[in-house]
Amino acid sequence: MFKRVLIANRGEIALRVIRACREMGIESVCVYSTADAAAPYLRLADRAVCIGPGPARESYLNIPRIISAAEIADVDAIHPGYGFLSERADFAQICRDCKIEFIGPSPEAMGKLGDKVECKRTARAAKVPVFPGSEGAVEDEDAAAKIAAEIGYPVIIKASAGGGGRGMRVCHNEATLRTSIRQAAQEAQAAFGNGAVFIEKFLEHARHVEVQVLGDKHGSAVHLYERDCSMQRRHQKVIEEAPAPGIDRRKRDAVCDAAARLIRAAHYSGAATVEFLMDDRQNFYMLEVNTRVQVEHPVTEMVTGIDIVKTGIRVAAGEPLPIRQRDVAVHGHAIECRINAEDPDHNFRPSAGTITTWEPPGGPGVRLDSHVVTGYTVPPNYDSMIGKLIVHADTREQALTRMARALREFNVGPIRTTIPLHRLLMENSAFRQGGIDIHFLERLLK
Ligand code: ADP
Repeated sequence: MFKRVLIANRGEIALRVIRACREMGIESVCVYSTADAAAPYLRLADRAVCIGPGPARESYLNIPRIISAAEIADVDAIHPGYGFLSERADFAQICRDCKIEFIGPSPEAMGKLGDKVECKRTARAAKVPVFPGSEGAVEDEDAAAKIAAEIGYPVIIKASAGGGGRGMRVCHNEATLRTSIRQAAQEAQAAFGNGAVFIEKFLEHARHVEVQVLGDKHGSAVHLYERDCSMQRRHQKVIEEAPAPGIDRRKRDAVCDAAARLIRAAHYSGAATVEFLMDDRQNFYMLEVNTRVQVEHPVTEMVTGIDIVKTGIRVAAGEPLPIRQRDVAVHGHAIECRINAEDPDHNFRPSAGTITTWEPPGGPGVRLDSHVVTGYTVPPNYDSMIGKLIVHADTREQALTRMARALREFNVGPIRTTIPLHRLLMENSAFRQGGIDIHFLERLLK
């Protein structure tokens, strides 16, 4: 096992990894930018190393500085968390070249699954259902128009290297497709350094269902069943739950097996999530694979009892997966609410500043993954998520009631947060009945 691990991330996920390392007897070294210098979670690491100023490009995304920190601290491995460098195959390769273990997939496996066009190709070969659309990247307007005519409108243009809900455009007819395709390619080039775009069928009424998978370096992979993440705003997840309500057992097993098959086919080790959209008839189409631990991993941990972060560290150290597929069982229901420092009354504008009131909830079945304490100042530089509130109970109904109770206890100020929105959603009868799709929240907020 590793002696010392560097955490190339910040906030709640840095703390999540610090906690896993502590329980595993591994020393943790956490990097930070000057904007995070006062963050209290840094004191929970064995060592903290400043890697530069607030802008992520000069710190959390700066590979030479992170590698220097890793060499100075003499670590065996780097945990990238999510976001930042976590899905950069070039970073995984540099770690390998420097003889530092990257806690995640090999650069080869990341290349096969992390790029959306490559991923669809790998999925087709592994007989995982994908959306109808272009075989690879589309080169020009005419090619795009030809494919769109075949699959029928609406279609969606996506950047092969896209992520975080960015770089997508829905087109309802040929005229908009023709004008959008070149703009989309230019935008993708500017935003992701890769101008490749592709098109696929746009599903109007869909649920977002994803499957958590774990692979090891010995060719095994198991799935930890599915999550529903249909509650989204601007393609960003707001609430996640496990299991996904109302899915036919056979369909669910089929999609979970397909996800594990894909991970095995890519010789993937570590935690991955295979994302699907599900239509009204419970047909699944793969969207993409996230080649890292995800924000919403706790709901799966709560229902399976499997620690995804620790298992990811173990397999990176070369251990075989400690579980077989038949050992994985789902117990009860878990829900996660993302708590963002945003003002829901003013179009979710960011609400940075010092938190003077922080009264977190507690009690049975409540888990709060957050790096915030009273007096913590939310820096304006990064993502607005300040924590994740997770509950677990025997049934979905009880989990919703428990979440409503926990949200009622949760008091944060004077910054604005998404807590009041979550309180409203827990009372929403359509949501309580499980009748949601990916546009539910946007319709509600209109
Ligand atoms: P990203 O990598 O930016 O998160 P995804 O491909 O995972 O992009 O898509 C994010 C969200 O965009 C999905 O959860 C869904 O709401 C919407 N979306 C993506 N592709 C489609 C599609 N073909 N039809 C309908 N909605 C889609």
